[in-house]
Amino acid sequence: MAAVAYLDHAASTPMYPEVVESMREFFDACYANPTGAHRMARDARRATDDARDILAEALGARPAEIVFCGSGTEADNLAIFGAAAGSGGSGGTVVCGAVEHPAVLRPTEQLGGRVVGVDGDGMLDMDALAAALDGDVRLVSVMLANNETGVIWSLGDVAELMARHAPGALLHTDAVQAFPWLDVATLAAPADLVSVSAHKFGGPKGVGALVVRDRVRLQPQIVGGGQESERRSGTPNVAGIVGLGRAAEITVARRGEVTERAGRLRDRLADGLRAAVPGVTESGVRPATGAGVTVDRSAKLPGSCHLCFEGIESEALLFLAERGGVYASAASACASGAEHPSHVLAAMGYPRSLARGSLRLSLGAASTGADVETALAVLPPAVAQLRRAAA
Ligand code: PLP
Repeated sequence: MAAVAYLDHAASTPMYPEVVESMREFFDACYANPTGAHRMARDARRATDDARDILAEALGARPAEIVFCGSGTEADNLAIFGAAAGSGGSGGTVVCGAVEHPAVLRPTEQLGGRVVGVDGDGMLDMDALAAALDGDVRLVSVMLANNETGVIWSLGDVAELMARHAPGALLHTDAVQAFPWLDVATLAAPADLVSVSAHKFGGPKGVGALVVRDRVRLQPQIVGGGQESERRSGTPNVAGIVGLGRAAEITVARRGEVTERAGRLRDRLADGLRAAVPGVTESGVRPATGAGVTVDRSAKLPGSCHLCFEGIESEALLFLAERGGVYASAASACASGAEHPSHVLAAMGYPRSLARGSLRLSLGAASTGADVETALAVLPPAVAQLRRAAA
């Protein structure tokens, strides 16, 4: 395959070579079921427990509070359906933000929950949240950072509001996008339930985890052999869990350096595109206050560059981008790769005519200056070509 500028790390980021190496043994040497009694089973169990210890520390939890599962989606579903059903039959309302990932939004809608709007910068409407909270609320689910715009929310503010208006309610956060970049152990401390997914931070696909604090009554959604202390049955994906643990360890160790470097590359990319292309809206940014800075991107994840180009269709832009070797996406990655109009941009009040020209360029630990330069060479002429064709 020819070299590409891969700018779709928010969809999935490459595995660290050390992660691949750490998993190998659990495919070809230590392949036993970790629930068994013999030595190889005990070795497999020890490896999953080591990964549990590492992830617990990375998330500010106790090892017994970690539930390994099959994806970020499953972690979100378990949090919402499990917490709602764990209310002891009294039902209880679920509340979530309008820009949540479908793995949160759909379960909330299925349960007849309340959806709280956001403002034009993608920030949660705290007045609307206060109005949605009352004594019936069992769970509030708000993401730590958004998968399309990269906008970061403060859980502390949400928890404060909950303490006043719904003191008995649980707080869940989807930290799937946040974990590669932010100190989730600190920022998610107010949350009772926290979801992560390995393939977003250098681990394998098909493995995620949910932190379930001791105080939470959770109804399992997959029942069977009682693995994960009865909270998620099914033979554990040992190699995947080992890889997740190693990836979490590397992510935390390198987070400062990766964040700083990717942030600089992202700024060069976003500033370069804004300078080269007229009619661009960058989401989640505020006017700059300091000298020599174009805009204030401090409310966004460092790897996130999300732009809307007036007068074009994302699908056509993605086609030309790929032809030039740039891999990106329009809305969030979802089933079948089909691009749907973004519910995130709609909630932020973007007119459809602008939202349909959205482009998400997301960087990761492996991103390079060459990726950015390729994107800066390919995208402006591609936008110009599409606008000429539409004129
Ligand atoms: N939550 C967020 C914010 C995401 O970005 C994603 C994936 O894009 C998920 C949940 C789902 O995670 P997974 O791909 O592991 O199912």
